[in-house]
Amino acid sequence: MADSRAAEGGAQGAEVDVVVVGAGFSGLYLLHKLRGLGLRVRVLEAADDVGGTWYWNRYPGARCDIPTTDYTFSFDPDLETAWTWSEKYATQPEILRYAQFVAERYDLRRDIDFNTRVEAAHWDAAANQWRIRTSTDASLSARFCIMASGCLSVPKAPEITGASRFQGDVYFTSRWPHQGVDFTGQRVAVIGTGSSGIQSIPLIAEQAAQLTVFQRTPNYSIPAGNGPVAPARRAPLEADRAGYRQAAKLSRAGVPNEPTQIYGRYSQPALQAERFEAAWQTGELIPILGVFADQILFPDSNAIVAGKVREKIRAVVQDPETAELLCPKDHHIGTKRPCLDTGYYQTFNRPNVRLVDLRTRPIASITETGIDLADETMAFDAIVYATGFDAMTGAIVAVDITGRDGITLKQKWAAGPITYLGLMSAGFPNFFTITGPGSPSVLSNMMVSIEQHVDWVSDCLVRLRADGLTTIEPTPAAEAAWMVHSNDCAAITLFPSADSWYMGANVPGKPRVFLPYVGGVDAYRKACDDVAVRGDLGLHRSGPAGERCNDGVVRQLQPDVGMVLDMLAAMNLPTFNSMSAEAARAFMDQLSAARPPGPAVGETLDGTLPGASSGSGPLNYRLYRPATPGPHPVVVYFHGGGWVLGSHDSDDPLCRDLCRRSGCLIVSVDYRHAPEARFPAAADDGSAAVRWVSAHLADLGGAPGPVAVAGWSAGANVAAVTCQQLRDNGGPAIAGQLLLTPVTDCDMATPSYQDNAEGYVLTAPLMQWFWDHYADPADRAHPKASPLRAASLANLPPACIVTCQFDPLRDEGVAYAKALAAAGNRVQHIPARGHTHTSLTMVDVVVSGEPVRAEMAAALHGFFQRVAVAA
Ligand SMILES: Cc1cc2nc3c(=O)[nH]c(=O)nc-3n(C[C@H](O)[C@H](O)[C@H](O)COP(=O)(O)OP(=O)(O)OC[C@H]3O[C@@H](n4cnc5c(N)ncnc54)[C@H](O)[C@@H]3O)c2cc1C
Repeated sequence: MADSRAAEGGAQGAEVDVVVVGAGFSGLYLLHKLRGLGLRVRVLEAADDVGGTWYWNRYPGARCDIPTTDYTFSFDPDLETAWTWSEKYATQPEILRYAQFVAERYDLRRDIDFNTRVEAAHWDAAANQWRIRTSTDASLSARFCIMASGCLSVPKAPEITGASRFQGDVYFTSRWPHQGVDFTGQRVAVIGTGSSGIQSIPLIAEQAAQLTVFQRTPNYSIPAGNGPVAPARRAPLEADRAGYRQAAKLSRAGVPNEPTQIYGRYSQPALQAERFEAAWQTGELIPILGVFADQILFPDSNAIVAGKVREKIRAVVQDPETAELLCPKDHHIGTKRPCLDTGYYQTFNRPNVRLVDLRTRPIASITETGIDLADETMAFDAIVYATGFDAMTGAIVAVDITGRDGITLKQKWAAGPITYLGLMSAGFPNFFTITGPGSPSVLSNMMVSIEQHVDWVSDCLVRLRADGLTTIEPTPAAEAAWMVHSNDCAAITLFPSADSWYMGANVPGKPRVFLPYVGGVDAYRKACDDVAVRGDLGLHRSGPAGERCNDGVVRQLQPDVGMVLDMLAAMNLPTFNSMSAEAARAFMDQLSAARPPGPAVGETLDGTLPGASSGSGPLNYRLYRPATPGPHPVVVYFHGGGWVLGSHDSDDPLCRDLCRRSGCLIVSVDYRHAPEARFPAAADDGSAAVRWVSAHLADLGGAPGPVAVAGWSAGANVAAVTCQQLRDNGGPAIAGQLLLTPVTDCDMATPSYQDNAEGYVLTAPLMQWFWDHYADPADRAHPKASPLRAASLANLPPACIVTCQFDPLRDEGVAYAKALAAAGNRVQHIPARGHTHTSLTMVDVVVSGEPVRAEMAAALHGFFQRVAVAA
C-alpha cells in the first residue's frame, strides 16, 4: 500500500536529479558517470560501506567465478593499470578492497548515504519527481530513480520447520559476520549446495570436528584451478587492453571467447572427449558451457558434457553411494548456474564429512539442539544456511515503488517482471533498473553488463536533456514485444526445463518465468544500441519541448533467425541473383555442405523416376524411410530454389526432419530446372512424379492409398499446381498438400514484397531473377505458374499452408490459404512469427522453427488419418 508521506510528497527533504539505490559496483559506476554529466546524484545504501555483493558475502571461500581479469571495471584505462589482481579468481576481501579503492579513487563516498535503506519510491506526476522514503525517515525528491539494488542481494529465508528454535550459532553465507567464524572443534551443518555452499564447505570441513552437508539438488561444479593469473590469460589483455575489453563487450557472455561451430550430437566420441577435457582444464565456466554449439539447445548434446562431469565426480569421490548422490541428474548442465570449486568433491572423502540427501531424507524439523530427520536426530553447534537469493526481482519489489496512476511495480510484476530491455517499465517514468530482469545480467560477466547499462542510461539522459525533455518511459507495445523476444530467446534453449533461480523456482510462490535475457551480451547490446540509434525507439518522452512518442518494436525476428542473418551479413556473401544459374547452383551446394546434416532416419535410398518429358531423361529422387515398422504413408516432396536451384540434397535436412516427425515415407523428387527447362517443365514434372510414385507404392515399400504432396517455396508452387493438375486430369487422388512458403502468384507488388524486399535471404530482386529464369511474363499469370489464379479452387486436397512473417511471399501464401478455404477446402494456415522464407528449413540451426516443423509433420500425419477415417 502506498505510504501517504511519500505519496503526498510530505516533508520532502533534499532534492537531487538522480537517486541511486545501492552502492555495489552498479551504484558506484552510476555515481561516477552521472556526476560527470553534471547531475546531482545521491546514492542510498543499506550497508555501512560500499561493495554490495562483496560487502555482504564474507563466507569462507567466497570468490568470483569469472576470472578476475575479466570481472573488473574497464571504463577508465588508468583505473585498470592502477589495480592488479593477485589471483585468477580473487577472494571476497580482495574484491571488496577493489570496490573501496574505486570509491576512494573517484571520491564517491561523499555522495552516498550509508545505513540507509530505501523503503518507498512514489512517482509524483504533478511535479515530475520521484518521492523517496528511507529507513532513516529521511525523504528525498529526484527526477530519476535508478535501482542498482543487485540481482543477488536479498537472501532467501530458509523455509524449514523449527528454524527459529535452534539454540546454537546460525550463519547465513550472504550475511556473514565481519569478524569471521572459527568452527574449530564444532559439529556444523551446512544447508545448501549452490555456489556459496560449494565454495565454503571445503574450508568449513578443514576446521570443524564434524561437518554434515544437507543437499537438495546436486550441482555441476568444476575445479577452479586457482592461483596466480596464468601468463597465457594475461597476455592478450596486456597486448591490447582496449581490444580485449571491446571483445568482451561483443561476446556472448561478457568474456572474450570464440564460440565453437561443432555440434555435440554430430561429433565423434574422440572429438567429444578432447573438447570436453580441454574445457575442463581451463577451470573456467564459459568454456565448459560452450563445449558444443548445440549444448544448451538439445538434450542429447548436453548429455555428453553432463555425463563427462559425472565421470569426473565419480573418479574423485571414493564412496560410490556418496558419489552418486553428488552427481547431478535432474537438470541439464548450464540450466542452473554451475559452480567452480577448490576441493569440493575431495571434501567428501574426509572422515569428518557426511552428506545427507534431502530428496530421500527430508528435514522433519530443526530443533533446539540440531536437526531431526524422520529416522535420525543430529546434534549441531552451528548451522550454516547457504540457501541462495530471491534473485533478480527480490530487491526491486522489496521497495514500495509506485508509478503513474498509483500502480505499484509489485502489482505490475505479480505474474513475473515486465520490462523494456530489462532497463525500464511502462507506467514508471524516469525509472531504471541496472541489470534488471529481461537483460543478460546474471547470465553474463556482470561487470560488462553493469557498465553497458550504466553507459546506456547515462547516454539516454544526455539525449533527453539535449532534446529539451524531462520524462521518459517505454510504450506498452514496445515493452510487450521485448518480453515476447526475451521469452523467445529462452524458449529455444534448455533453460526453462530446470527448477532454477533463473526461473524463480527457488522461492515459493514466485512466478515461474525465465528472468534474464539469454540472447547474449552481444545481441543485447546491439538491441539497446538500436533503440538509441533509431530515435529512442519504443520510448515515450515528454517535457518543455513537447511530447515525442516513437512507438515501435526493436526485435521481431526469432532470435536464432536474427543470428543467422547477422552471420550471413558478416560473411558478405555474393547474392544468387548476381551470378549465372550454374554458379548459383554450385554456390548453393557449397552452402548446403556446411550445415548440420539433419536427423537420422531409418533408411535413405537414391533412385530415378521418369519425368514428364521422355526426351529429357529421368528425374532423381531420394527416399526417406522412417525407422518405425512400415509400410508408411507416402509423401512426394518438391525442393525449393526458385525453379532454378536446389535438389534433393539441398532440402535433405528438412526431409529427414519431416520423415522422422511425421512417420511418413518421403520421396523427394528433383524436377527440371530453368533456364534449361522453362515453364511449365517443373509443373509437368510434378504431376508426372506423383503419378509414378502413386503407381509404385508397393515397390517403394509405402502404404497403399493416396499420397500427399509437399514442397517449399517454388517446390510448394509445384506441389500446389500438381494438386490442381491431377484434379483436372483424372488423378490420382491426393491425401493432402503441405505448402511451406509457397509461390502462388506472380504479383510482386504485395505489401509483404515491399516490407521484406531486402535483408531476409529471399529478396525481391532474387525473386525477380527466379521468375525471369522460369517463365515469360505472358506465362506467369497461367494457373500452372500462379495457382492462385486458377479458374476454380474447389475440390482440392486438404491443405496446410505455412507463411513466414518476414517473407516477400507471405501475402500470396495467406491469399492462397484464404482462397482455398473460400472455395470450400479444408485449410490449416500456420503463420510463423519471426521467421523468414528460408529459416524454417534450417533444421538444427533455427531451433525456433521446431514447433512449426512439428506442426507441419502433424499436418502430414493428419492428412493420412483423415483418409483412413474416410475409408
Ligand atoms: C557470492 C557471489 C559471487 C558472485 N560472483 C560473481 C562473479 O564471479 N561474476 C559475476 O559476474 N557476478 C558475480 N556475482 C553477481 C554479483 O552480484 C554481481 O557481479 C555484482 O557484484 C552486482 O553488483 P550490483 O551493484 O549490481 O549489486 P550488489 O552488489 O548486489 O549491490 C546492491 C546493493 O544495493 C543495496 N540495496 C539493495 N536494496 C536496497 C534498498 N532498498 N535500499 C538501500 N540499499 C539497497 C544492497 O545492500 C547492496 O549493497 C556474484 C554474486 C554472489 C552473491
